[in-house]
Amino acid sequence: MGEFRRDALTGNWVVVGMKKVKAQETGVCPFCPGNEYMTPPSIREIRDGHGAWLLRAFPAANPVFQIEAKEDKRAEGFYDKMGTLGAHEIIVEDRAHSKTFAAFQPVEVLRVIDMYSERILDLKRDKRFKYVHIYKNHGEKTGSYIVHPHSHVLATPIVPHQLFMELENSRNHYLQKERCLLCDVVSQELRQDRRVVIASSHFLVLCPFGSRMAFEVWIMPRQHNPAFESWQDDDLRREFADVYLDAMRRIEKVRDSYSVVVHTSPNTDPGRFGDRGPQVDDYFHWHMEILPRTYSQYKREDEFYTVPITPEEAAEILKSETT
Ligand SMILES: [Zn+2]
Ligand SMILES: [Zn+2]
Ligand SMILES: [Zn+2]
Repeated sequence: MGEFRRDALTGNWVVVGMKKVKAQETGVCPFCPGNEYMTPPSIREIRDGHGAWLLRAFPAANPVFQIEAKEDKRAEGFYDKMGTLGAHEIIVEDRAHSKTFAAFQPVEVLRVIDMYSERILDLKRDKRFKYVHIYKNHGEKTGSYIVHPHSHVLATPIVPHQLFMELENSRNHYLQKERCLLCDVVSQELRQDRRVVIASSHFLVLCPFGSRMAFEVWIMPRQHNPAFESWQDDDLRREFADVYLDAMRRIEKVRDSYSVVVHTSPNTDPGRFGDRGPQVDDYFHWHMEILPRTYSQYKREDEFYTVPITPEEAAEILKSETT
């Protein structure tokens, strides 16, 4: 079991002492149908009419965060540390081993989105968890060693650094202008139309102005909405599934490795701002970030990304890809 420590200089929380996952040497995929014995039992399964699972969620065999761990906040001198309380689940998105996202059908994408929402809602019931983080890594350049399409769900006792920064910037913007930052991004991007890849009636796909990676893409609702998991109606879910699939098909034309991250509202207000002033639901706007990878290790790029093409060029290329 690892220990969660806060770096005093950056404020980043890191897990140390986490044993390295042994790479699969047997060549047997633990996520393939028939190998369910290789993983913990399912928390949730979606089955077809014959009882075969189509998608399954289960606790990770080698979890970064664990429900049995204690929150156990303590100090070592002036350093902060805590136990790795949380949850770590895996969602196997399909039975097929080497199917990439671009080959999914809309109904299969919808199953993944619904399971994301369900797991977020379920884990958010535990108020010890400050955030539910969902991501997937596809392709060897992301360091993912299992090809089989799957996502990770992490419930964490802190708000992750990247999200914390987004919350803080969004809150500052709201304090100054009384408007949501991403709502402003949506209207400006639609007006300028230089970085927009897809604009459906309720969603926008764009290459962000300050892209960290070439072909970085964000998907967000055009109307203000703080929480990914709060789907109001079926038409909206279906429209999102279509838009997400369309974006992934374009991205897979230009990159074979990528990470997908869902950024939804935290489980509790980050706290340090107190009850006064704007609430997180007013200033945070959910979005999905797709980060195509060209190599797995970053050094300087961790601090200061350099990107070979502009987001305007990337949007042009992605728009012209026929899906
Ligand atoms: Zn497999
Ligand atoms: Zn908004
Ligand atoms: Zn984000």
